Amino acid sequence: MEKSIIKIENLVKRYKELTAVDHFHLDLKEGEILGLLGPNGSGKTTIINCLLALLQFDEGTIDIFGQPMTPDSYDIKRNIGMVSQNVAVFEELTVYENIDYFCGLYVKNKEERKQLVQKAIEFVGLQDYVKFYPKKLSGGLLRRLNIACGIAHKPKLIILDEPTVAVDPQSRNSILQGILSLNKDGATIIYTSHYMEEVEQICSRIVIIDKGKNLAEGTKEELKMMIQTGETIRIEVVDLPEAQHEGIQHLEHVVSVDYQDSMLTIHCQRSNHNLVTILEYLNKNSIPYGRVLSELPTLNDVFLEMTGKQLRD
Ligand code: ADP
Ligand code: MG
Repeated sequence: MEKSIIKIENLVKRYKELTAVDHFHLDLKEGEILGLLGPNGSGKTTIINCLLALLQFDEGTIDIFGQPMTPDSYDIKRNIGMVSQNVAVFEELTVYENIDYFCGLYVKNKEERKQLVQKAIEFVGLQDYVKFYPKKLSGGLLRRLNIACGIAHKPKLIILDEPTVAVDPQSRNSILQGILSLNKDGATIIYTSHYMEEVEQICSRIVIIDKGKNLAEGTKEELKMMIQTGETIRIEVVDLPEAQHEGIQHLEHVVSVDYQDSMLTIHCQRSNHNLVTILEYLNKNSIPYGRVLSELPTLNDVFLEMTGKQLRD
């Protein structure tokens, strides 16, 4: 059986009137990259802070590596790497000194630490900046420093709270690739985000939350099968007579049809033969067509169908 890394049951956290986390549960197994996906304000950071015993909660239990997590669980904490949503580094220390400081909280041996710090610097690609102070770094480089500080001590569990917010595309890609390679090297990962594309790209399992509650979980494929929304089909058609426009609208499982600039866009309900049905219809009516594209529903569609809201506003 896979080893349990985190087990959260019935977690409740209230800020006065507001229930920020509402009977949340989570079961994280060794080797996973788990995406915690939810809109801004859905409780992701609050869950992470409870998990790390940085915040007291009202109800529930949290076990990490099979043991209850408490503020003085030092043995648990040394095996966790935390990359916080807000960059948390020392302005008066250089890049090298910052990473060395955070690594030194858990690794006392100087020789061992030197190697770990060096590895972390290479890992995030900050070799050319080791003597820089944080205020001289661009937003993307600062984020990379924040990551290096969180992971240098080679933790078994790495928690990244929205590490790519306000990051340029190049740094974003390097961060995502970095997470995959940390996982390959054996780390179990929790990754929170409100960007569905990133979560789809790297996570082996996704937990969708809203208002501090579990909404749905599974692989991205499983989540997309839970909803009625199906694929969006785009077909290049140079001329579409009104009668056929309407005809397509009336085909089974077709939700809406839009025709503009020689592009026919058809939203479907989930069903096995949508594309075939539509192409057969065009053939039968002797309507020539060019490129055909079919896109699966997105995780935003999943969220939208389950809550009536967009993941991002
Ligand atoms: P997320 O990380 O998903 O954006 P948060 O966990 O930061 O969400 O916030 C969840 C909810 O709790 C939000 O409504 C937020 O306004 C509220 N909240 C967060 N921190 C505090 C706090 N210290 N005091 C009061 N309310 C808070
Ligand atoms: Mg947050």
